[in-house]
Amino acid sequence: MLSTPVGAIGSGIGGGVELTLTNIALEMIRRGHIVKIVAPQGSVVKSVPIVEIAGESQIPAQTQTRAEPIVLPKNSVLANMWDYARQVQSDYDVIVNYAYDWLPLYLTPFFNTPIAHLISMGSLTDAMDSIIEQIATNFPQTIGVHSLSQAQTFTFADKCRCLANGMDLSIYQFCARPSNFLAWVGRIAPEKALEDAVSAAKITGIPLKIFGVKQNEQYWQDICQKYPDAPIIYRGFLPTAELQQELGQCRALLVTPRWVEAFGNVAIEALACGVPVIAYRRGGLTEIVKDGETGFLVEPDSVDGLVNAIKQLDQIDRHTCRQQVEREYSQQAMGDRIEQWFRDILAGR
Ligand code: UDP
Repeated sequence: MLSTPVGAIGSGIGGGVELTLTNIALEMIRRGHIVKIVAPQGSVVKSVPIVEIAGESQIPAQTQTRAEPIVLPKNSVLANMWDYARQVQSDYDVIVNYAYDWLPLYLTPFFNTPIAHLISMGSLTDAMDSIIEQIATNFPQTIGVHSLSQAQTFTFADKCRCLANGMDLSIYQFCARPSNFLAWVGRIAPEKALEDAVSAAKITGIPLKIFGVKQNEQYWQDICQKYPDAPIIYRGFLPTAELQQELGQCRALLVTPRWVEAFGNVAIEALACGVPVIAYRRGGLTEIVKDGETGFLVEPDSVDGLVNAIKQLDQIDRHTCRQQVEREYSQQAMGDRIEQWFRDILAGR
């Protein structure tokens, strides 16, 4: 399994991919497969063998414009990881690519071992759209996505395999009685529109706990300046065990993406703790949140919508939230989908 080249696993820079890769690796090992993770130097994953590769990180695709050309830095960690994969490929049945990047897709026809590409974001650049489509056409079944909404951002949605996601729910404790806090979890970067959640906290007067890595420091400073007296508490980037404990004690998770969020791991993590999710009706969130049952889907970019939903939180039964993830997003359910995906790729060769 080749990780994202934008940062080390455990740094938070890789976003949801870090947890997704870890969960899939652990579940495949539990099922008796032999798994090795190949990731940038400094990566930490408990209980999975890992090969750390040195080199410079890739620029995250979500910071690029549509017409951006493909860029690789000198001594690219992405190139180094795939050079390693090329050398050891005959030891493996399947190589799994978690990078939202051009190179692994381009290299697919040059490898003898099949490559499964788990695409973690929707359409962002023309170069990526074109190479993903090429591989989806020439190597059927090998393009996996997390939601139908994500697939629909591409012109070749019908060639994508929807895999959703899943978590080891035993790590997430159900909390029946929250304190009076709201939560916001994610990379602090413009596509996540933290400012809308901060604004909703200010209007309602309910303190907002913010968890996540400051990927864009300037963006964070701008928010602090714009809302100097908003009731916000920045809790930093926490490991899953600590995150779930604090998140569970919140009344709701606000998810405010400005972009088409491919899935939204944070939504299922919140639901697993019994925390309702108030999200913009956009991207993968529309497939996760059951409006009026496990949270609310509100008009995208509407702070008023967030505020109205917060006022209605008492309608949501926190047990229903936990039950939904147990049904749809357990590690077992995710493992079944992923394992079948690998088997279909092997069968289709
Ligand atoms: N996360 C974390 N600790 C924090 C804040 C966030 O581990 O303090 C993780 C969270 O568990 C989730 C990821 O960051 O897996 C964010 O993923 P998501 O799919 O929501 O968004 P992405 O960053 O991939 O766009």
